[in-house]
Amino acid sequence: MLTLSSLSNPPIQSPLPDQQSLHVSLLQFCKNARDLQQIHASTLKTGTFHHPWIASRLLSLYSDPRIGNLDYALSIFERIPKPSSHSWNTMIKCFVENHRSNDAIALFCELLCESAIPPDNFMLPCVIKGCGRLRADEEGEQIHGLVLKIGFGSDVYVQSSLVSFYSKCGKITSARKVFDGMVEKDLVCWNSLIDGYVKCGEVDMAREVFDGMPERDSFSWTVLVDGYSKCGEIEVARGFFDRMPVRNVVSWNAMIDGYMRYGDFVSARRLFDKMMERNVITWNSMISGYERNGLYVEALAIFQAMLEAGMMPNNATLVGALSAVSGLGLLDKGRWIHLYMDRYGFKYDGGVLGTCLIDMYSKCGSIEDALDIFQAIPKKRLGHWTAIINGLGMHGMANHALDFFAEMQRIGIKPHPITFIGILNACSHVGLVDVGRRYFERMTNEYGITPTVEHYGCLVDLLCRAGHLEEAKDLIEKIPMRSNEVIWMSLLSGCRNHGNVDIGEYAAKRVIELAPDATGCYVLLSNIYATACRWADVSALRGMMKEKGVRKDPGCSSIEHAGFVHKFVVGDKSHPQTECIYSKLNEMGVRLRCAGYIPDTTQVLLCVEEEGKEVELAHHSERLAIAFGLINIEHRSPIRVVKNLRVCNDCHLVTKLLSDIYDREIIVRDNSRFHHFKNGSCSCKEYW
Ligand code: ZN
Ligand code: ZN
Repeated sequence: MLTLSSLSNPPIQSPLPDQQSLHVSLLQFCKNARDLQQIHASTLKTGTFHHPWIASRLLSLYSDPRIGNLDYALSIFERIPKPSSHSWNTMIKCFVENHRSNDAIALFCELLCESAIPPDNFMLPCVIKGCGRLRADEEGEQIHGLVLKIGFGSDVYVQSSLVSFYSKCGKITSARKVFDGMVEKDLVCWNSLIDGYVKCGEVDMAREVFDGMPERDSFSWTVLVDGYSKCGEIEVARGFFDRMPVRNVVSWNAMIDGYMRYGDFVSARRLFDKMMERNVITWNSMISGYERNGLYVEALAIFQAMLEAGMMPNNATLVGALSAVSGLGLLDKGRWIHLYMDRYGFKYDGGVLGTCLIDMYSKCGSIEDALDIFQAIPKKRLGHWTAIINGLGMHGMANHALDFFAEMQRIGIKPHPITFIGILNACSHVGLVDVGRRYFERMTNEYGITPTVEHYGCLVDLLCRAGHLEEAKDLIEKIPMRSNEVIWMSLLSGCRNHGNVDIGEYAAKRVIELAPDATGCYVLLSNIYATACRWADVSALRGMMKEKGVRKDPGCSSIEHAGFVHKFVVGDKSHPQTECIYSKLNEMGVRLRCAGYIPDTTQVLLCVEEEGKEVELAHHSERLAIAFGLINIEHRSPIRVVKNLRVCNDCHLVTKLLSDIYDREIIVRDNSRFHHFKNGSCSCKEYW
């Protein structure tokens, strides 16, 4: 007769002995995921799953890296009523290998609390490895205690895993203690120890261990190459690199990275060119190395070569390439990389790539594209908010930046110190002095962020631009940390803008004390004297510059056209279109005068004769770039110029007039912000 319980729970068919042996033999030879799933289904249908050997074999196969299905492995493990020691081992190992060490440690605790199975010398190294991966030093130390208690203290596998764990966690003394207590030391163990020393910055100790090694592999050598190059001893690193018996791509990469870190990109390039085999890390080291050293054109050339070589970039590659694009302000190139990312399925809503894109578009002058990217990111993170706030500030859109800041707080994202740099800069670019001061206070009082010298720098800049020079000077004197020359330079440039000779001289003295080679400082001071018609001081200063061999930084402007970057310095005559450019300049001069323009020669340092000054002004690098743009860039596209220094008063005025005369939108990025010139006025509203 049927009972209720038998209705709801049909009795499990008792497996037939021949089915069982069939499944056992099938599983013995099973090699792929499809077969495995079929056998698995059949064991469930026939009930042979409950045979301990079969369940355990299924578990092993699912956790095998060649099949690697962690979810199935876990669901099988959970269905085994009393897992054997082997099954626990398999599951813990599987978690560690799949970068879920948290789960491995939790499962290990479950084993200790809920089963009668004692941990063995397979399981212990595995879970200790998991602790190392997570840098979970407390948990690892507890397990070390357990190891000693249950008598595995002198097991070579367990000891080896402990050395590696302590080295990874930076507890080099403990690592050394375990290491010294080992009777048998394998290569892995020696390598872990030297790696640990290098990670703690004790490269000489690493060297000592290295010298005592009975045998070495390329890892041992590479660790030292890496260690010496990270602490700046690049020659020593190179010595080790040259002596390596066998070098692999990792060792080449370490050496290249070392040279780049050291700023020796020529040697890095020489090695790169010699390499027979390169991987994505090699290319990335070159791209980011050039980018960090300010060689943006070279960084992009390597990126291009990488794509041509058929190497697939990863996120780090694109971060490097986008940063280089930002450095040069190459909007077209940036758009191209953005398209490339879309085409190859790179996701940029997750984190750093989104931040880079926002940053790239704002630094390349298209705040609209930056905003589009920002809005399209569904789950915006701190990096995205900070990037857009910085971008808006750079474009003089302070109110937008402040709105975004408020919105960010509303949804509960805590600002980063860099977010405040963006806010303070935004206020500075439009002269919102009181607002800026308030945010500076809120940063400390509300968010507990200790201002860095950069934050003070922003505040000083804010005060200086608005003409509060005394207050700025007092603030600098009171800064708790050592002030740097950049802060005094802000004060000096504020004095230039507001014609204050006394404070200007004082600030210039401080800059010269801190950085005797700061050329900009002499130029600014000379401008201040010139504006005040103190010609004797101007010529005395010029004499001093000559004596010290200080040369003015050449102004340089670049403009992108049809995939090429065209660079101009003052009075440049090297461009193939020079003739056209200079006749355009003449035409511009005539049309400017018709519009009532009178040159402002107060900021010219080098020429004495009034006429000479005018000629020099007319040949400032941004004017050459604009002339090139007027000739070559089609009428409906804006002319985008990137300048390495601050735009001078006269060029600013001229560019405003030109935007009206030629009915062109001209976007100029100088060393601190963007100027959007249109219909005779500039977005900065004379505030820069
Ligand atoms: Zn100029
Ligand atoms: Zn402007």
